[in-house]
Amino acid sequence: MSRLIIISNRLPFSVERSGEEISLRQSSGGLISSLKSYFEKNTTDKFTERIWIGSCDLNTAEWKRTSDSIQGKDFTIEPVFIKKEIYENYYNGFANSTLWPLFHYFPSLVVYNKDFFNAYMESNRLFAEKTLEIMRPGDVVWIHDYHLLLVPQLIRNVDPAAVIGFFLHIPFPSYEIFRLLPTLWKRTLLQGILGADLIGFHTYDYVQHFIQSAKMVLEVDNQFNTINYNNRIIKTDLFPIGIDFDKFRNSCSNEKLSVHINDIKQSFAGKKIIFSVDRLDYTKGLTNRLKGYEDFLEQHPEWHEKVSFVFNIVPSRDLIPTYSDRKKMVEEKISTINGRFSTISWQPLMYRYNHLGFEELCTLYRAADIALITPLRDGMNLVAKEYVATNDKRGVLILSELTGAASELNEAILVNPTDSQAVADAIVMALTMPIEEQQSRMRLMQKRLYDYDVVRWVNDFLDQLYQAKNEQKKAIVKWLDTRAVSAIQHDFSLAERRCILLDYDGTLAPYAKVPSEAKPGKEVISMLADLAADERNEVVVISGRDSNTLDKWLGHLNINFVAEHGVFIKYKNQQWETQVALSSNWKDMVRPILELYVTRCSGSLIEEKKNTLTWHYRNTHPGLGFSRSRELLNNLLQMTGNTPIQVIDGNKVIEVRLMGVDKGNTALKIIDYFKSDFVLCLGDDTTDEDMFRIIRNKGYTVKVGPGTTAAEYTLSSQTEVVPLLKKFLDP
Ligand code: UDP
Repeated sequence: MSRLIIISNRLPFSVERSGEEISLRQSSGGLISSLKSYFEKNTTDKFTERIWIGSCDLNTAEWKRTSDSIQGKDFTIEPVFIKKEIYENYYNGFANSTLWPLFHYFPSLVVYNKDFFNAYMESNRLFAEKTLEIMRPGDVVWIHDYHLLLVPQLIRNVDPAAVIGFFLHIPFPSYEIFRLLPTLWKRTLLQGILGADLIGFHTYDYVQHFIQSAKMVLEVDNQFNTINYNNRIIKTDLFPIGIDFDKFRNSCSNEKLSVHINDIKQSFAGKKIIFSVDRLDYTKGLTNRLKGYEDFLEQHPEWHEKVSFVFNIVPSRDLIPTYSDRKKMVEEKISTINGRFSTISWQPLMYRYNHLGFEELCTLYRAADIALITPLRDGMNLVAKEYVATNDKRGVLILSELTGAASELNEAILVNPTDSQAVADAIVMALTMPIEEQQSRMRLMQKRLYDYDVVRWVNDFLDQLYQAKNEQKKAIVKWLDTRAVSAIQHDFSLAERRCILLDYDGTLAPYAKVPSEAKPGKEVISMLADLAADERNEVVVISGRDSNTLDKWLGHLNINFVAEHGVFIKYKNQQWETQVALSSNWKDMVRPILELYVTRCSGSLIEEKKNTLTWHYRNTHPGLGFSRSRELLNNLLQMTGNTPIQVIDGNKVIEVRLMGVDKGNTALKIIDYFKSDFVLCLGDDTTDEDMFRIIRNKGYTVKVGPGTTAAEYTLSSQTEVVPLLKKFLDP
């Protein structure tokens, strides 16, 4: 039985001081209330113990004095103590003045400060150390959010087998935004996250943005949502966080709340109530929202005295100047609107600046006819979900399309938060929406929130984490050792019709700076000739090279050839045969782009074959070549989406070709043709993976060089290929 270790920046309680007296109060907030709900509900989960690691505002002595009061039955608390100055630079500094604005698309607010970054690294190290101190084999570690991006890798460095999940609760921005960070920071942050086995985000877009950044910055390989990095398989996926649906839903039947709701309704008699609650944060679009409400009031005098906006702000991060300045701005705007439109008997905006407890929050959710939730960016936005869960009979949600929640709450009135006219129009639409429509929209959204509540969210994440770990186990590299070689030799000796499929570049010959220089050495030629001399052997060189090159270099040998990954086949003593109907129109579209990249990246070159256009960048400045290759890849993938053209990110090459031809299908065809009773297949590149996948169950597959592979065995380097094949000359 294992234990679950949750790591978040803060422990789930806040410290209240009055003189010498210290008391600890269990705090709310999105992450904390979600996980607490899960722990409270799911007492029968598979963990023997749940441990929560986080920082707190106490020193060691204070902690010893007070901790007994909060050690609950649901989880054990393990504090991380961080010196005040380091914590400031880490939390208010790098986390909330660098990462937060950048990840929410506010690049102009980003502070670039080395001390902040160093404090971030130092704090992350303390979190990792604490975790390693208490971790035991079999424990599951789940790290949360942007404060702790480096912790997964810091733990992995010490414990390579650890089971680590990471979840980001804020958006992951597009690469164009992420790349604004200095290179060292970018690399360190991505490497940090990639220490996890499973990386979760709220939406599909965030997953894609992350993969794109990891590709551009760290050259990771990926297949859909699975990333290969440093010989590890890492899964990424979306897990839109759920809420404790029942808790909010059941608040409807709480009698005490019903009394409060009636009180509120009476004091707003004859008026519709618009409601919003947000932390004071520039991402929440507070002034834009107020402008939308102002436009509405200006354009719709018929609604004056018939509507009130209960505008709640929760204090947040007030030590950061960008936040304290914002308060002044918002309050000025509120005064302007109230000053402009109020009458003796009516005030259009009711402003409050404090934290609301659960009951008060639910009362307001229930009393509100409209929830106006319009952040400029929000990873998810739980308030929107909670409003929907709390209202069963009526209510309209107006929601910013730039929140993560918008991808699940399609039946809300979705608005662009910067478009004040759209916000004003949405208010009118909500105020006049027939009750039946309100109900039907609400029901559809509620069903979704009910189905994927917080318990499902946690279980889904943890299930995927176990699955990711299992997939890693399956993919562990099996080196081609002497025992394996003996087993292959044994089968080989018994077989009568052996097929030996050999890739050329990176397998039979090492890579050269320019493709035309990678000629076969004498040793390879004589080994191939000797292998082919045994008439039970069919040797096939299966390559991406064109037919002329193969003829020129190896044509004198009594062997079979595949050129351009399967477009052409030449069986022994026969002519080249084309395997697909070729159309070259697509090349005219792709060639100019490749030519542009040849100009933009000196040393790169285009190789043109009948069915393939290849851009080589082996012979370029490594940094430039790589970054140009990412740009080119991006351009080509965008251009060729929904076309039969395939773009392959190979070993220092980007290859463009028509789909339908690959080494896998071609290898299969050849094995059938020869009716082989023994197959040995060697290759090193992405295109060889097609072969490995298709013929893994039909024979022996060997990948040359490190990296994850579908092949059964791995040979550590190209220099071992000829010695290996020589063992089959006289087994
Ligand atoms: N919340 C609260 N009291 C308040 C305001 C908000 O308890 O006065 C809770 C709210 O119920 C929600 C969370 O704080 O669960 C806010 O999460 P959200 O995703 O909406 O915004 P965040 O503050 O995380 O950016």
